Parts: sequence; C-alpha cells; structure tokens
Amino acid sequence: MNRVVSGVGMTSQRTRARMIERLREQGIDDEDVLAAIAAVPRHVFVEEALASRAYEDTALPLGFSQTISQPYVVARMIEALCAGGRRLGRTLEIGAGCGYQAAVLAQLTDEVFAVERIAPLLAKAKLNLRAIKQLKVRLKHADGRLGLPEAAPFDSIIVAAAAARVPAALVQQLAPGGRMIMPLGVATQQLTLIEKQGETFVETRLDAVRFVPLLTGVE
Ligand code: SAH
Repeated sequence: MNRVVSGVGMTSQRTRARMIERLREQGIDDEDVLAAIAAVPRHVFVEEALASRAYEDTALPLGFSQTISQPYVVARMIEALCAGGRRLGRTLEIGAGCGYQAAVLAQLTDEVFAVERIAPLLAKAKLNLRAIKQLKVRLKHADGRLGLPEAAPFDSIIVAAAAARVPAALVQQLAPGGRMIMPLGVATQQLTLIEKQGETFVETRLDAVRFVPLLTGVE
C-alpha cells in the first residue's frame, strides 16, 4: 500500500539487524539488552543528515559539542548493570543528550529518570521520545552531578559523561544492592561499575572508553 514508507522501514530494519549482529560479535550476549537495542530506532535520535549512519557502531554528533553514544558502549554499560540476571529497577541516567540511551533503558524497566544540563538538548530528547511514543522516561533539566534527590534511591545509575572521580551525591543515592556505571578518568577513561553491598562499595574496572566530560551547572 504505502511502498515508500514500508521501503524505508525495511532498510532501517535490515541495518538494525546488522547492528545487533555486530554487537554480538563484539561480545554482547545479554538477549534482553540486545532486544532493547533492536527495539529502538536510532535514526530518530540523530540529525537528519546523519540518519543513514544511525546504525553504524559509532558515536555521532548531537550538536552543542555533544555526541550520541556508540551502540556498543550503551549495550556494554546496560549489560554490566544487568549482569547476573539482575533487573534494572528504578534507574537514573545522567546526561540524557538526545534521549537515545533513555529509550533503550525504558525497554528494560518502567522507571527511568534522565537528567540533562543543556536545556535545548533536553527539549530534543523530549521530542524524540515522544516521536517513538516512549512516554515513561521522566526528564529533568538539572546538574546530574547532584543526582536526583527527589526521586532517590535508585537501583541503577548510568552516567553518560566522564569524571575524574565518582560524584559523592550519586553513590549516596544508590539503593541497597544498587549498581552504578560511569566512565572514570581524565586523559584515559575506563568504564567503572560500582556496586553497593551493605555499607561498602565494590568497584570493577571494565573497557577503556571516550566520553564527553561531566560538567558543572546547567545551561
Ligand atoms: N545518553 C546520550 C549521550 C549524551 S552525551 C545518548 O544516548 O546518546 C553526554 C551528555 O551528558 C551530554 O548531553 C551532556 O550535555 C550531558 N552532561 C554533561 N555533564 C552533565 C551534568 N553534570 N548533568 C547532566 N548532564 C550532563
């Protein structure tokens, strides 16, 4: 009936399937995470001029000197939060950007809060999430270094920008048994998983990564 639209849909579906295959080759094996990524049309979240590259495994510019995260890194971070058959539960994302990762998280849990410090990016995230009919992500314009005290505690916290040290407010807002993942480091960064076990925090270093910096204040 509507050949043009279904044609575009097919292309996107095929390239999306290829992206999932690539993620498997790169070692992502959590089927729930792969299904969550497969369910989110990444081309909706990137600039129109870049839409043809939406399913390549690369970070792409978002505007405001920010980038939409690489699918592999999104998958790796969420997989680490879910490892051992754990559920994400109440989840906080710091650095919503265009909303892509929040959309993936929303496939896996009903409670997603996402904070972004750049107001026009937050507005974009809102539009993008609405475009894919993902209405359960709660977006907030704020400095994520302070977490989101009014919605804490969180079972999972995922930070999409790098810092030299873990912001104290974030670990304080972790629920018992909670997990947080973020890139740590300055010249070189490493994904770091922090688990709250009783009163102690267990840190595990994962992949070397490159994220934009976690900045102070809002704009
Ligand atoms: N999660 C996005 C990636 C965004 S890039 C995705 O799915 O593609 C990182 C984002 O973190 C940028 O939008 C940047 O503005 C934001 N950011 C940096 N420091 C922040 C802070 N202190 N609080 C909230 N957001 C922050």
